[in-house]
Amino acid sequence: MSLLAQELAELIRQEGPLSVSRYMALCLGHPRHGYYMKQDPFGADGDFTTAPEISQVFGELIGLWAASLWQAMGAPASVRLVELGPGRGTLMQDMLRAARALPGFREALSVHLVEMSPVLRERQRVTLAAVGVEPHWHDRIDQALDGPTIVIANEFLDALPLDQFIRTPEGWRERLVGLDDEGRLAFGLAGEPDNSLSVAAPASSVLEQPAAALEAVAAIARHVAAEGGVGLFIDYGPARSGFGDTLQALKRHAFVDVLAEPGDADLTVHVDFARMAQAGLAAGAAVHGAATQRDFLLALGLQQRFEALSRRATPEQAQTLAEGVQRLIDTGPTAMGELFKVLAVAERNLPLLPGFDLHRLPEQG
Ligand code: SAH
Repeated sequence: MSLLAQELAELIRQEGPLSVSRYMALCLGHPRHGYYMKQDPFGADGDFTTAPEISQVFGELIGLWAASLWQAMGAPASVRLVELGPGRGTLMQDMLRAARALPGFREALSVHLVEMSPVLRERQRVTLAAVGVEPHWHDRIDQALDGPTIVIANEFLDALPLDQFIRTPEGWRERLVGLDDEGRLAFGLAGEPDNSLSVAAPASSVLEQPAAALEAVAAIARHVAAEGGVGLFIDYGPARSGFGDTLQALKRHAFVDVLAEPGDADLTVHVDFARMAQAGLAAGAAVHGAATQRDFLLALGLQQRFEALSRRATPEQAQTLAEGVQRLIDTGPTAMGELFKVLAVAERNLPLLPGFDLHRLPEQG
């Protein structure tokens, strides 16, 4: 048993079963044993790979998107560029390099990162020093927001803890993490149904309540509606709400049991984009999307950017570029192009944001 598994078992013996959100929060964020707190999980040798780690084009297109939004906002003399959960800092580095194309933007912006992991903060510091940027770090989203702000979050919402409920004949009962007869972590159900939930659903349906993700989107929506700016969320999940258990654990690029390796496997959930959009609207912002990652990147000029880079590349480099770009937009149930969605919350007086016109460019070989 891992140190965290032992600590969780002790906690359950003392306080009773844990909610799924508490389990998730401890697995990812426990100060000593939490998954993100003790290591850098990215890349081919790590547990998973994200879009910015696959292709530089991803961050470059988003950097140009942010720059054009700054212009549409009236080119404020000072703007915060905020990233939530920046990982290795790769996306921000690629964004800033591309954003140099727009005179004035680099001078106007200050970089703010919301990151809980000391290991990853250090990694981000090194990555951004290479492009001459000293970011400001924050523990919480509200601390990072001030004045006109552009927020970017790639694969952040999927790491925020949620609660799960299961439809039983008596009503919705919360799914909890307790111990089996041998003292191992095991799922169970709360003794009493939760009468505050009135959603109708077939027997055994799983209802997920992503309170932290909804609050994150709402906080940014409230801020940009009041003080100007936009928030961009990219993640995997459905465009329409549904029932189902989406909690998953990943280790070395393979799925593992979600209770088997607390703190040693990444834990994520699928993001319900319909509910995130509702949260943005309810908080007073304009909402754009959700678009598929494929449509979004193609509309931002993925193909043109790829061709421009390829012209300056060796044949091997061009091949690697082509493979990376293709991975970002591939279709199919496990590929990124359609599984990943893009949602923006924005101040209300901006026109339709670039990338959300759902314009599909003709496919090119
Ligand atoms: N955006 C990056 C990394 C995604 S992994 C990329 O695309 O490569 C999730 C990131 O969010 C990590 O940096 C992790 O440490 C951070 N994170 C997860 N939960 C967090 C929380 N509650 N508060 C702040 N940062 C968090």
